[in-house]
Amino acid sequence: MHSSPCSPKVNHMTDLLEHPRGAEAGKPGDRSAFSFETITRLSPSAQGLGRDGARYGRTGIIHTPHGDIRTPAFVPVGTQAAMKAVLPETMKELGAQCMLANAFHLFERPGEDVLDAAGGLGRFMHWDRPTFTDSGGFQVLSLGAGFKKTLAMDVTGMKSDDVIAKGKERLAFVDEDGVTFKSPLNGDKHRFSAEISMGIQHKIGADIMFAFDELTTLMNTRGYQEQSVERTFRWAKRCVAEHERLTAARLGKPYQALYGVVQGANYEDLRRHAAEQIASLDFDGVGIGGAIEKRIIGNTCAWICDAMPESRPRHVLGIASVDDIFACVENGGDTFDCVAPARCGRNGAIFTRFGRYNIKRAEHKLDFGPLEEGCDCYTCRNYSRAYVDHLLRAREINGFTLATIHNEHFFVKLLDDIRDSIDGGYFEEFRDESLAHFYGK
Ligand SMILES: [Zn+2]
Repeated sequence: MHSSPCSPKVNHMTDLLEHPRGAEAGKPGDRSAFSFETITRLSPSAQGLGRDGARYGRTGIIHTPHGDIRTPAFVPVGTQAAMKAVLPETMKELGAQCMLANAFHLFERPGEDVLDAAGGLGRFMHWDRPTFTDSGGFQVLSLGAGFKKTLAMDVTGMKSDDVIAKGKERLAFVDEDGVTFKSPLNGDKHRFSAEISMGIQHKIGADIMFAFDELTTLMNTRGYQEQSVERTFRWAKRCVAEHERLTAARLGKPYQALYGVVQGANYEDLRRHAAEQIASLDFDGVGIGGAIEKRIIGNTCAWICDAMPESRPRHVLGIASVDDIFACVENGGDTFDCVAPARCGRNGAIFTRFGRYNIKRAEHKLDFGPLEEGCDCYTCRNYSRAYVDHLLRAREINGFTLATIHNEHFFVKLLDDIRDSIDGGYFEEFRDESLAHFYGK
């Protein structure tokens, strides 16, 4: 990054929180500005996957310097400090409580120094609610292996430690200290490590950050997964130390919470071991990461919660579907990020209570009803399937905007409704009915 950027111009935006909680001139951020409070716990049940039938599902509040997050909550992903085609004002209006950006992408462009000079991610993107950044580990390692967006999950009988996507060159190399990789943006060689990721995330300034971890795929051998869990623990310790150093050194900033990430792929013993390791360190919360087979996603959350203090909020990284959300909430997940609603929406896939459909199917050409009957989002209140179908076919940006608004609203509201169902004591009924409707069972 540039060592001597031009002096930043002062901005005069007045409707952002000028004084985030726990920030005082000349002092390190006050850690007590971040905490988690439990409101309602799910009662244990015969089907509980935790120790002694425990179910770790709960509602609560994450208090952060930039405001509270009522949990369980959906965390929309604005990779480049932006939800594609949707302004932050609109994200607020559709009910988003917080947003997540990608440290790796912001490091590549515009560079973390720009966000630091702007006063942090929230100020930079005109978003006065809580923010998250991931550590960059996922991007560094998954882009490096050429899988780009997702890690292959169906890998029966294909164990190998050097699998890369067909026709791709390996771009990332892991060693004890960190990861060396080639930028997918311009081919430049970069280095990520625990300390570098912490430095970048502190400058980006999100309320919640993640420790730099090694992401493996389900294709890696058991031996490699074991080594990787131990390496991730060593990196986690370095992240905590560097985070403490930066918190003490960067005066006048709000406290940024740091979550440790539990890896261990689909091995119960490794997940439990990794969870105990992460629980032993002074993290503010926990990230449930890595490749997990769908059939054991609820179990994986429960194994981790068995080891984790209740006071630490739990974030499930990169959730993929409605049934996974229910399984993870029931077993202790508090927050969930997912790129699917926006990405699917831009391709014409619309989420509704009765499943997903493609708006570009011929039958919608003359359908002047809303994207989803009964939906109260901005799109459904004002626009028709026929119009959104037309815009998406014509590749008009407004089509991306309208489809994204509906899909993001769908997931934000789903988590809001789940939260109400736990507080109201009817989670099981709501879960069964929602899944029956969504999957047509
Ligand atoms: Zn809608």
